[in-house]
Amino acid sequence: MKRSIRLRTAATVLVMTAGLLALPVQAQAATADGTSLAQAETLLDKFQAEAVPASSPAAQLQKRLAEDQDTADAIDPSAYQCTTSTPVRDWLAASRSDWTRSDQNDADLFLQVVLLDSVLYPDAHSKQFGAQGEFTKVVNRTFGDLGRFWDIDASRIDVVAMHPDVLLDPAGVQRVFQEAFGVPEEAAKKLGEAVATIADQDKFDHGQHPYFTFNAFAMDGLDLTDRTIPPEIIMGDGVLEGYKAVGLDDVAPASILAHEYGHHVQYQRDLFETDLTGPEASRRTELMADSFAGYYLTHVRGAHYKWDRVRDFQKVFFQLGDCSFAAASHHGTPNQRLHAAQYGFTLAELAFPRGQVMPTVEFAAKFEKVLPQMVAPDA
Ligand SMILES: [Zn+2]
Repeated sequence: MKRSIRLRTAATVLVMTAGLLALPVQAQAATADGTSLAQAETLLDKFQAEAVPASSPAAQLQKRLAEDQDTADAIDPSAYQCTTSTPVRDWLAASRSDWTRSDQNDADLFLQVVLLDSVLYPDAHSKQFGAQGEFTKVVNRTFGDLGRFWDIDASRIDVVAMHPDVLLDPAGVQRVFQEAFGVPEEAAKKLGEAVATIADQDKFDHGQHPYFTFNAFAMDGLDLTDRTIPPEIIMGDGVLEGYKAVGLDDVAPASILAHEYGHHVQYQRDLFETDLTGPEASRRTELMADSFAGYYLTHVRGAHYKWDRVRDFQKVFFQLGDCSFAAASHHGTPNQRLHAAQYGFTLAELAFPRGQVMPTVEFAAKFEKVLPQMVAPDA
């Protein structure tokens, strides 16, 4: 098994698009400390080809997050209308259209480093959400609101910002390689320098490229040998930036947070249990999280969005749909995600008495009943 933690998980709100253009490799430049890009690349290639120790936090996290390999239980793609060309995905694709295959491999490792850094060392991160802290207020307000809205224990959940700053900090990267991947100190030090060297290029926005944090996810608590990581919601800068670029920043932070909070409802209520397998299982939990979000965003006791913002939050979920019908992290097609968000909206509109919030367990039972209809073939 190659050394990697896949982020396209049942727990993530997003699936990265894989579209990649094959372009000529750029000339190798030497950096100030004499580590050439070529040397740095060689080091990273070697690392990526090796196996990660089963006892490392990285391996534990990988077990915790759903696996991303293609499975034998693929859903029939010809049964569905599907496109991965949506405004926010197109924006992300355009931002990395100059990357080579090798750049893409590096970027995929970088985003694992950034994620592990956020998950394992949350205290090292500012509590500012968005690259400039521009979403801090809305994230904090929405989290407080969600805690009052749903009948689970919010006090155990930590909301953490995912910034990419660690990439240009060789010591920070070294710590991730040592503690998360189990790499010996000297080798980890060299890898830290290699990552900082490679990340500090124009094509990677000098370590600030939105791809590295184009993600959000929910994780249940994690027991490490020396400490315990609390249940977390991770909010990446990049995905918030992407939605700002396509004009949906008014609703995206609350929508994404409400979806991730829905996963914590699933953790606390044991709602991941299902007879479904592979992509069908993942699609079920993801669409359920979209429905939880749609209900909260619409409900008079929740965010209580008016019609124009309802339309916009539905776009947020539509644009995150994917066509990865064989992946164990399939989140549902754009149409299915739209329908899931609309289902939550409908339940909130029909709520009676109007101010009453449905218990989470009852909500999930209703969702199970409509799921077959929600995922019925539409091609
Ligand atoms: Zn999700």
